[in-house]
Amino acid sequence: MRVLLLGGGGREHALALGLVEDPAVEALFAAPGNPGIAGLAELRQVDPVDPAGVAALAVEVGADLVVIGPEAPLVAGVADAVRAKGVAVFGPSAEAARLEGSKTFAKEIMTAAGVPTARAYTCTDAESVGRALEEFGTPYVVKDDGLAAGKGVVVTDDRAAALRHAQECGRVVVEEYLSGPEVSLFVVTDGVAALPLLPAQDFKRVGDGDAGPNTGGMGAYAPLPWAPSGLVDEVMADVVHPTLAELRRRGTPFAGLLYVGLALTAAGPRVIEFNARFGDPETQVVLALLETPLAGLLRAAATGTLAAHPPLRWRDGAAVTVVVAAEGYPAAPRTGDVITGADHPGVIHAGTARRAADGALVSAGGRVLCGTATGPDLTAARDAAYALVRGIELAGSHHRGDIAATAIDGRITVPD
Ligand code: AMP
Repeated sequence: MRVLLLGGGGREHALALGLVEDPAVEALFAAPGNPGIAGLAELRQVDPVDPAGVAALAVEVGADLVVIGPEAPLVAGVADAVRAKGVAVFGPSAEAARLEGSKTFAKEIMTAAGVPTARAYTCTDAESVGRALEEFGTPYVVKDDGLAAGKGVVVTDDRAAALRHAQECGRVVVEEYLSGPEVSLFVVTDGVAALPLLPAQDFKRVGDGDAGPNTGGMGAYAPLPWAPSGLVDEVMADVVHPTLAELRRRGTPFAGLLYVGLALTAAGPRVIEFNARFGDPETQVVLALLETPLAGLLRAAATGTLAAHPPLRWRDGAAVTVVVAAEGYPAAPRTGDVITGADHPGVIHAGTARRAADGALVSAGGRVLCGTATGPDLTAARDAAYALVRGIELAGSHHRGDIAATAIDGRITVPD
């Protein structure tokens, strides 16, 4: 199988590692890729949000499968353009990707499908925002209606900050606060059949103890020792299948990766958000534990043959990833700093580049690297991930020190 992978972050480096491990993959191309992916794939240049350009590249490299990592190309219709060339593509159509591209659309689908989620209002002016904040009370949750790379959500007790965020975004969804531990569940689907991957947990806030602003994600672990047995079955029955059915009913079936972000509240699991692609950095830990060949799985979803796919196999043990972020992330990350200690197995490149002048590895984004490790249990995986992080030198960088800590210490409780 010849595979073209679109994207150049940590998620795509993790996908590339999984794809090259699949014996069915004879050639892997990545566009644009990154210096970590460069060791695994032939890199090509393309504008990732140019549907015609990506489709032409897929034909040029003779791809049997295109895997789209990030959300922006999906929303731009890249999957549709590739499919129109007769090439199998893992990633939903632009219409179905609105599940991520518009929070209002996602709420509409959930309401129609009877999926449990936070009550919410879409607001475009200060007066309606004020009314919604009044109704739901603190903590206030205000979300940018469009794509915001995981940074469009403000959760705050400060009414002025909530109003300011709403004003900056223009069109927002104001919703009730969901209290309870969060779970990320990835589901591979061809639009009808659906296979859940292992649930994972990520860490959205920048600082230890969940202090500071939201980020794209500062670390993750899997599996979740504290998750109720039966959780995945319940979410598949109450969330995933009704959502897929509603999208089919509208003539826009969702094929690709359905990411379900959940809060396990006292009233049961509630959807916080849907994404239309693998989450970053949860992908790093989930794929580290997946034993089933990845390209075959994604191709089955892309070709509508997932019902015939064998059950997924998982490695024993646990996986942890810790993000090393640039100075100033998330507000104003500094880039261009030289990195050393990144050439160890398990160090995943998220925001790196080669300096043109001398080929040195430098930071090129807010989240720069992820130390990812597996182990017989969460403690061993965590210790190994932090050993990788300690070996990385990047001036001014920061990382959370408490990834997986509450799970290891048994401090996470699911409300009954
Ligand atoms: P999102 O981009 O929708 O995933 O939101 C980012 C983060 O904000 C989530 O992972 C949650 O930690 C938090 N969040 C979003 N919506 C809610 C909510 N309704 N209640 C509590 N926390 C929320």
